[in-house]
Amino acid sequence: MAHAIQESFRDFYKRQNTGLNLISEAMKQEQAEHEKLRDFHEKRYLRKYELFYKNLGLIIRNKDEIINTPKYANIDAHYLLEGGGCFIGRLQTCQQYNFAGTLVTINLKLGTLLKIWEAEQFQVECSCGGIAYIRHFVGSPLSGSSCASALCSKCGQEIKGIKNRSYGKYHFFSNKMHYRDIDLVVKKILCNWILAEEKYNEDVKKGNVYMPSVGENLKSNDEFCNLETMIHELQLKEFKVAN
Ligand SMILES: [Zn+2]
Repeated sequence: MAHAIQESFRDFYKRQNTGLNLISEAMKQEQAEHEKLRDFHEKRYLRKYELFYKNLGLIIRNKDEIINTPKYANIDAHYLLEGGGCFIGRLQTCQQYNFAGTLVTINLKLGTLLKIWEAEQFQVECSCGGIAYIRHFVGSPLSGSSCASALCSKCGQEIKGIKNRSYGKYHFFSNKMHYRDIDLVVKKILCNWILAEEKYNEDVKKGNVYMPSVGENLKSNDEFCNLETMIHELQLKEFKVAN
């Protein structure tokens, strides 16, 4: 976002004489590379979005397993649910924090998205008899009106123009669920920090501490899985069961 730079004429004159631009070439290069990276991520998330919704039936059939398997439940799902309204802006499914100059991003998790979809508000009956799940909504928190679209997990049909549902229930419920993801991540870090402190205190008692640092004992051993691997594993599992 552009912002006004307060500069006196004297400073402006001195800067011009020194040949110092307000924005340096290195800053411009960093900005250009950042934009290229953003374009790359947009394409990547579009590919993942299409892959996910192409496999919606598989994912819904294995919903309980996904929710109960941390490596699946923790998969990033921030790009799979979109919403936004007048005066309120876009639904935030990706929160970024700056802790001591270190950026930490906490995204909506897949297990949480599946729990959001358990709410009646996010389900629509399809003409094929299957259930379609809301993946996009717009509206107004003031009037409460909304318009949403959903995808059927059985026939793959997209149902557009879903109205007469509270915008607030879409937006604030999703927000609240995402905050629970944030709680989970922060509690997990705190819990691991406590374990690191215990190990540190043991080392102090034994006289094994050379340079005091709890951070040396901080561990993060949670299993990581991406969307592509999860889909492949679930397909293999269903294949084995069918044969
Ligand atoms: Zn259908």
